[in-house]
Amino acid sequence: MRSRSARIHFPLVAALLVAILSGLSAQAPAQPGPDLLIKGGHVIDPRNNIDAVMDVALSGGKVTRVAANIAATPAARVIDAKGLYVVPGLIDIHAHVFFGTEKDAYLSNADSAAQPDAHSFRSGVTTMVDAGGSGWRNFPQFKEQVIDRARTRVLAFINIVGSGMKGGPVEQNLADMDAKLTAMRIRQNAATIVGVKVAHYTGPEWDPVVRGVAAAQETNVPVMVDFGGHTPPLPLEDLLLKHLRPGDILTHMYAHVSGRVPIVDEQGKVRPFVWEARKRGIVFDAGHGGGSFLFRQAVPAIKQGFTPDVISTDLHSGSMNAGMKDILNTMSKFLNLGMPLAAIIKANTVRAADVIKRPELGHLSAGAEGDLTVLAVRQGSFGFVDSGGSRMVGNQKLECELTVKAGQVVWDLNGISRPMWTEGTK
Ligand SMILES: [Zn+2]
Repeated sequence: MRSRSARIHFPLVAALLVAILSGLSAQAPAQPGPDLLIKGGHVIDPRNNIDAVMDVALSGGKVTRVAANIAATPAARVIDAKGLYVVPGLIDIHAHVFFGTEKDAYLSNADSAAQPDAHSFRSGVTTMVDAGGSGWRNFPQFKEQVIDRARTRVLAFINIVGSGMKGGPVEQNLADMDAKLTAMRIRQNAATIVGVKVAHYTGPEWDPVVRGVAAAQETNVPVMVDFGGHTPPLPLEDLLLKHLRPGDILTHMYAHVSGRVPIVDEQGKVRPFVWEARKRGIVFDAGHGGGSFLFRQAVPAIKQGFTPDVISTDLHSGSMNAGMKDILNTMSKFLNLGMPLAAIIKANTVRAADVIKRPELGHLSAGAEGDLTVLAVRQGSFGFVDSGGSRMVGNQKLECELTVKAGQVVWDLNGISRPMWTEGTK
């Protein structure tokens, strides 16, 4: 009886199973919960017009959702970001990270350059752009030695000088500035090279700029120019209005160096041709560095509304141990000079990404790379020093609490992503 009854019911059971399975497959697949959930922080994501308290969910190394009150699942690591700002991973478009052991080689395979991972995450940076450390000759070495080994996303402006930024006579050699070969190297490394750098040439010719622009034109990337030091001086006005194209970048915008007029004139006014250059689409980058950010330039310029498009560091062993320090200290200067926090974040996220033509970076859209930074704005009395050695006092300072790269916590200042030791097993 039992076996016959089983035989009778078997087709029914099978039919029932088929019905259940087809019913399940007709439904939308269940949403997996996030791997990482950052709750209650003030999200600033300028690309998506978000400036409010929200939760951010990440899974599989990507941002999956930004919304209010996202439910935590048992599997998720939940981080309480109340009272903190959650922003896309910062992009530093002017750093020097082609570090190495070559003697007298300045910022090209030399020890004045910084190791990227040693400086990036602790200041909220997930993407660093090396500004001309390598040229077409030694870019492969830079890639093998630094870019491919770093956890930080390292991109590059390639120097118009074939041997890169080795200082001294190497950067004065017009014969080593080849637009064709530079363009060739860019095409070979389109995933990594985002532009061309022109810097440090002191001769009276425009050739380095002309060749830099030619290489960039051929490959549809911007040129970044560190201008000045020419004998006799070359007019900044001609650079900005005649030689550079919309989208090209003047770095060191608040510098006052020999051989280049500063953007603010003797009467404290931003020069009319500088405004005109901005109108025609020239990008102005802070590029603080060791000698390129003066309060005497920045304060009047910002008062007149001439704020930076991008706030980069020009990081190297000199600037990091002087007034510049790191990207957050540099951004804090602008915060204390009255630039709104959201505008500062925009400059170093979506605007920076736009300048280097990497629209996939600098925002927290669903599906974007899971790079983000959690910042604290500390209140107190803080001192800030410019590249001339002058001090300014301010009452706000940005500090990096947490950095996430590709969905992984890579910096956690106060352990806010960790369990209490009393609850853990280690
Ligand atoms: Zn530099």
